Amino acid sequence: MNLFNWKRIVIKVGSALIAPNGKGCSSHYLLGIAQFIVRCRELGVQVVLVSSGSVAAGAHLFSQKEPTLAIKKAMAAAGQTDMMATWDKLFDFPTAQILLTHADLRNRDRYISVRQTIFSLLDNGMLPVINENDTVTTDTLKVGDNDNLSAMVAAAADADALIICSDVDGLYDKNPHTNDNAQLLSWVSKIDEKIYAMAGGATSQVGTGGMKTKIEAAEKATSHGINTFIVNGFTELSFNMLLEGKNPGTHFQPYEEPMQEHLHWMTHTSKAQGEVIVENDFNTALDAASEELTAQEIVKVEGDFAVGDTILVRKDDGTKLAKAKSNYSSCLLSFLADQQDKDFTQKMQNKTGPVISDKNIAVLEAS
Ligand code: GLU
Repeated sequence: MNLFNWKRIVIKVGSALIAPNGKGCSSHYLLGIAQFIVRCRELGVQVVLVSSGSVAAGAHLFSQKEPTLAIKKAMAAAGQTDMMATWDKLFDFPTAQILLTHADLRNRDRYISVRQTIFSLLDNGMLPVINENDTVTTDTLKVGDNDNLSAMVAAAADADALIICSDVDGLYDKNPHTNDNAQLLSWVSKIDEKIYAMAGGATSQVGTGGMKTKIEAAEKATSHGINTFIVNGFTELSFNMLLEGKNPGTHFQPYEEPMQEHLHWMTHTSKAQGEVIVENDFNTALDAASEELTAQEIVKVEGDFAVGDTILVRKDDGTKLAKAKSNYSSCLLSFLADQQDKDFTQKMQNKTGPVISDKNIAVLEAS
């Protein structure tokens, strides 16, 4: 690992670092992070910051002890400006705010637009500061935590590394808050169920993330070929070590063969708008991802999707096979799947092409 070979990094900073004592933002822990960002830029590494903290920063302005969702959204609106101002005064180059929801990222056109904005800001020497737009999100439209958001941003920004700041030194084999003999894992070559089991549930008091969402983020980012680190954001030592090319926490190995950009987006960022159900013995075609799915192979169509939307292909028994771009609307596909006249279906497809083509299938691990 060598920081100086990276061209672009994403650093994710959580609410506990930004608004640590419930009285609005504090630059106490941010100074070390800001110095790291400045140093990276001096070394020619472009930096994108994903910063939480709007809700935590705005909370002290409201009297409600048990805030409703509507009050939390108002806290986010009020706290976001404080959070941006706190970062902005730490730099002598401009910061630029980007507020996103999942709806922006799962729509391919909007995703490309976000990508272009990030690149334009970086090319003009600015520091993009990204957060979820909590004020306008709803349950179905939100990412929900900034760990996963930071991985989606890292993929969108074609980053070489994602550095997630935590309140502990990295991933431990047991919860370090409750186990004295917990061991830090400095290197993870593959994220599997054992790694998720070590992460346990959410632990952070102020943010919405925990170790589990950090592992999810690491999985998303490493499959895009992005080196991912969980480091202790409360100590400057972490950042000094990174600058020396050393690993201060847990380093997750990027896939040697990263997924293609549009397939990664389909798997990890886009949301399936509907489902296409195939017979239980349907296997080989999608496993090999070398064939195309035709309407004759479909048992049922669920949901409401348009041409170009992402769909989930699953077997009748629930096994998820793939996410894919549909060349048909759900309406036409339901009609074709119900057709008894196979010649008619075939003729339609000869005209329109397969339901999904082999270039637009992201095969999922069996689940
Ligand atoms: N977007 C939330 C905020 O700014 C934080 C989400 C998280 O903690 O991961 O308060």
